[in-house]
Amino acid sequence: MQSFWSDKRVTVTGGAGFLGQHLVKRLETYGAKVFVPRQRDYNLTSLDACLKCLLEHPADVLFHAAAYYGGIGINQTQPATLYYSNLVMGANLMEAARLVKLEKFVAIGTACSYPGYLEGHLKEDDLWAGPCHASVVNYGLTKKMMAVQAQAYKRQYGLDSIHLILTNLYGPGDSYNPERSHVVAALVRKWVEADLAKAPSIEVWGTGKPVREFIYVEDCADAIVLAAESYDDAATPLNIGTGIGTSIKELTETINAVSGFKGKLVWNTDKPDGAPFKVLDVTRMKSALGGWTAPTSLHDGLAKTIDWYRANKAQADTKW
Ligand code: GDP
Repeated sequence: MQSFWSDKRVTVTGGAGFLGQHLVKRLETYGAKVFVPRQRDYNLTSLDACLKCLLEHPADVLFHAAAYYGGIGINQTQPATLYYSNLVMGANLMEAARLVKLEKFVAIGTACSYPGYLEGHLKEDDLWAGPCHASVVNYGLTKKMMAVQAQAYKRQYGLDSIHLILTNLYGPGDSYNPERSHVVAALVRKWVEADLAKAPSIEVWGTGKPVREFIYVEDCADAIVLAAESYDDAATPLNIGTGIGTSIKELTETINAVSGFKGKLVWNTDKPDGAPFKVLDVTRMKSALGGWTAPTSLHDGLAKTIDWYRANKAQADTKW
C-alpha cells in the first residue's frame, strides 16, 4: 500500500537507541528507506561528520533523535557533557541539513525545556515563559535551542522543520543503569531486584510528591511519525505526551500492583525531587494528529516493561 513514507529516504540519528529503534521499525514498516548513522562512523558533534553523513546518505527527512540524556542523577553528575553534546549535535545537524537542502528536519525535544516553575499543564505558548528547572537546565535549554535555530533557519534559508517536545518515555530498551535512568526504569529495576532478593525495603528518591507524565515508548514513536507527516509549523513546537499526571508515590503504587511485589518504601529525601510538576498540555497535539491519543495505559505499559526487564535483565543491566 502506498503511504506518505513509501520510498522516502529517511535518516534517524539515534536510530539504534531507545526511542530511535522504535522510530526506525515504524518507518520501515511504512515503506521508508531508513539510514541510521552510528557514532563510530559519524560523530555528530562535528559539523564535517554531519555533512559527510548527509552527503553520503542523502535523505528527504531527518529525525534528530540522538541525544545524550538521562534522569535527575546524570543531570547532577554530567551537566557539562549534557550541555555540550546536545547543543553541538543539534546546531551542526541543522546547519548540515540546510547546506544539503534537506526537505524536512524533525527535531526531538524535551519537556525539560519548559519553565520549571509554572503552574498547571505545560502549553507550547509558555515555552519561553520562565527559566528551566535548575535540575535539568543543561539538557532542557540546549535542546530548546533547536527551536530557536529552526525559526532562524526557516526565515533565512527556508529550511522546513518541526520541533516536538516529548514527555518522559519508558519501556523496553531504556537505560536501567541507576546513575543514568529516569524514574520508571530505576523503579522497575529496584522492584524486580527487591523481589528476587526478597528485600524488606526499597529506597525511593525524594518526597514522592512530584508529578510526572509517562508515555510508553512505542506510542511516542507512533506520534512522532504521524507528526512528521502531518505537522509543518516550524515556528510552533508541538507537545507529545499523554496529558496525564502521576505522582511518584502513585507510580510506586502502580508498580506494586503490576509487579505483584510490595516492599516497604524508604523515601530518601537527600535525593532531589526536581520540578514539582511536569505534565504536557496535549490539546494542540490532538488536533494536529487527527485526534490521536496514546493507546497504552500506564498500567499496561508498566506490565510490558516489567515483563521485558525480567526476561532481559542481564543484558539490560550492562547498558549505559
Ligand atoms: P526528571 O523528570 O527530570 O525529574 O527525572 P527523573 O525521571 O530522574 O525523576 C523524576 C522523579 O522521580 C524525581 O522526583 C525523582 O526524585 C523521583 N525518583 C524517585 N526514585 C527515583 C530513582 O530511583 N531514580 C530516579 N531517577 N528518580 C527517582
